[in-house]
Amino acid sequence: MTEQNSIAQNYQAPDDLLKDKVILVTGAGDGIGKTVAKSYATHGATVILLGRTQVKLEAVYDEIVAAGGPQPGIAVLDFRTAQPEEYENLAEQIENEYGRLDGLLHNASKLGQKMSLDQYPIGTFMEVMHINVNAAFVLTRILMPLLRKSSSASVVFTSSSVGRKGRAFWGAYAVSKFATEGLMETLADEQGENSKLRTNSINPGATRTNMRAAAYPGEDPDTLKTPEDILAPYLYLMGDDSSAVNGESLNCQ
Ligand code: NDP
Repeated sequence: MTEQNSIAQNYQAPDDLLKDKVILVTGAGDGIGKTVAKSYATHGATVILLGRTQVKLEAVYDEIVAAGGPQPGIAVLDFRTAQPEEYENLAEQIENEYGRLDGLLHNASKLGQKMSLDQYPIGTFMEVMHINVNAAFVLTRILMPLLRKSSSASVVFTSSSVGRKGRAFWGAYAVSKFATEGLMETLADEQGENSKLRTNSINPGATRTNMRAAAYPGEDPDTLKTPEDILAPYLYLMGDDSSAVNGESLNCQ
């Protein structure tokens, strides 16, 4: 295990780690994104919950408020269909409401189909690449001026083990996760020595969510870690203890 992975996986976050931070989480209505967003709020962050299903985002909002967390924001955006103006509107709303952005967690993803590339439906390939890669680029690009206003900003991309070593039948999803690592590395390398912005990726590893169940229908979910079990690296990368960490590909497990 690399030193950074060891630090991240064993990280014990102070209760006020993310106090006064404004953090946007994509795919915050379900699975890992939902649990991470709630944890960020528990640690003091004002979280902007982005997703495509409003009722799910509202349920997370209610849980955060009921737990006494800072009032979150909700951003309904479907990456499959969103047009540039919708991203621009979001940036404008964040600017008006908060004036800056301290953290951006790219978590939303589409699995697509598990089949060989020579059979893979072309439309699904393009859709997966669009949601997993193009949308993450556009969101980062449009939010960059707000991230630059933070005294210490963190951008975290979500990868996968199939984004680091190709694997048969993982199709567009695997290709998109390689591209995600490419986005992360390119952005990280563009930051100067004393940059206030850092960019890293995280691989949650096998985790009990709907996506995992869709990818492995025969698997017993009780054998898997839960999203609550893998929070430490997500907290580490958003808090200032990782302010010097840039361009790393970390694992939660
Ligand atoms: P889930 O499928 O449980 O959650 C994915 C989230 O992304 C959902 O909230 C979903 O919204 C949202 N989303 C999907 N499509 C869109 C879209 N077009 N526009 C906006 N939001 C969208 O997945 P996980 O929690 O398992 O995965 C989270 C991340 O972790 C992903 O990037 C995944 O690739 C990665 N990962 C997961 C692993 C695992 O074992 N679970 C292993 C390795 C990587 P909605 O709820 O409305 O559908």
